[in-house]
Amino acid sequence: MSGAGRQAGRPVVIDSTLTCPACGHVKTETIPTDACQWHYECEACHTLLKPRPGDCCVFCSYGSVPCPPIQAGGKPDGCCPG
Ligand SMILES: [Zn+2]
Repeated sequence: MSGAGRQAGRPVVIDSTLTCPACGHVKTETIPTDACQWHYECEACHTLLKPRPGDCCVFCSYGSVPCPPIQAGGKPDGCCPG
């Protein structure tokens, strides 16, 4: 079960487990599909997480899975224009 081969209809994971880089707190969040989540506040230590340089959203930087546009196309420039 490599998952390779099919492109159309590939299931997109919208649940991503975010790991706080400050305190290590882990929380599974649903990735919003209509907009990138640029900021995420850790519920444990209230650190405001921001994407690392080159990443388009906090899920790409700290999540177990990147955001849906990246899953679908692997866009190097991120999923949000501008
Ligand atoms: Zn934290």
